[in-house]
Amino acid sequence: AVQIGALNKWYGTFHVLRDVSLTVPNGSRIVVCGPSGSGKSTLIRCLNGLEAYQQGTVTLGATRLGENARETTLARRQTGMVFQNFNLFPHLTVLSNCTLALRRVLGMARHEAESLARHHLEKVRIPEQANKYPAQLSGGQQQRVAIARALCMNPRLMLFDEPTSALDPEMIKEVLDVMTGLANEGMTMICVTHEMGFAREVADQVVFMDQGSIVEQASPSTFFTTPGHPRARSFLNTLL
Ligand code: ATP
Ligand code: MG
Repeated sequence: AVQIGALNKWYGTFHVLRDVSLTVPNGSRIVVCGPSGSGKSTLIRCLNGLEAYQQGTVTLGATRLGENARETTLARRQTGMVFQNFNLFPHLTVLSNCTLALRRVLGMARHEAESLARHHLEKVRIPEQANKYPAQLSGGQQQRVAIARALCMNPRLMLFDEPTSALDPEMIKEVLDVMTGLANEGMTMICVTHEMGFAREVADQVVFMDQGSIVEQASPSTFFTTPGHPRARSFLNTLL
């Protein structure tokens, strides 16, 4: 499980995360939503060590992020991250994007890394794109490469930060379908997304953030029918 305990973070004097606590049991899917600037990306980035925080704890299984360099490295290695803008290496082929960390970080032999990468490219349904460069792919294909690349490292937790918000409508579904497949296989996932259909179908819990705090956490059926917090209600109205 992932345990986030009373996380607080400031950018200078700006209090960006306020006492954020969240338990993510193994195999569960959390969708995080909320207005722009509410701290969703900052929270996600704290969970894989891309951002430091000043107070609180983040525990992945038995590993404590921020405890010391060794624990932090271990914790980060168990976490896959998918960003809004794909963040692929433009000068590397799809296959090399997927094998880079396997070879450099895990020291895996080339043939072994490539066969693992091809396995995951098949899972995201683009095995035929292995030798292309990112610029030769559609946005939806690039995002699926990013997911395959993350999966190659065999993460215990997948973090998604608005993975479909840079995509044209016809490509959103192919990425959401891959994410749904991952969920069905039991992957633990925290997804920042405003795709409320996905939240309804896939999430165990919806977390609504406002001004750096979690102001509501509920099952999708409760969140979408009877949101308790007035700001959650007005947020849902803006999405309709
Ligand atoms: P969006 O929906 O627009 O992606 P968000 O909920 O992901 O928003 P964050 O990106 O986490 O919001 O930002 C939360 C707040 O922290 C915002 O007010 C933002 O301006 C501020 N912020 C983010 N990064 C920094 C930074 N590096 N330095 C200072 N302030 C920052
Ligand atoms: Mg964001």
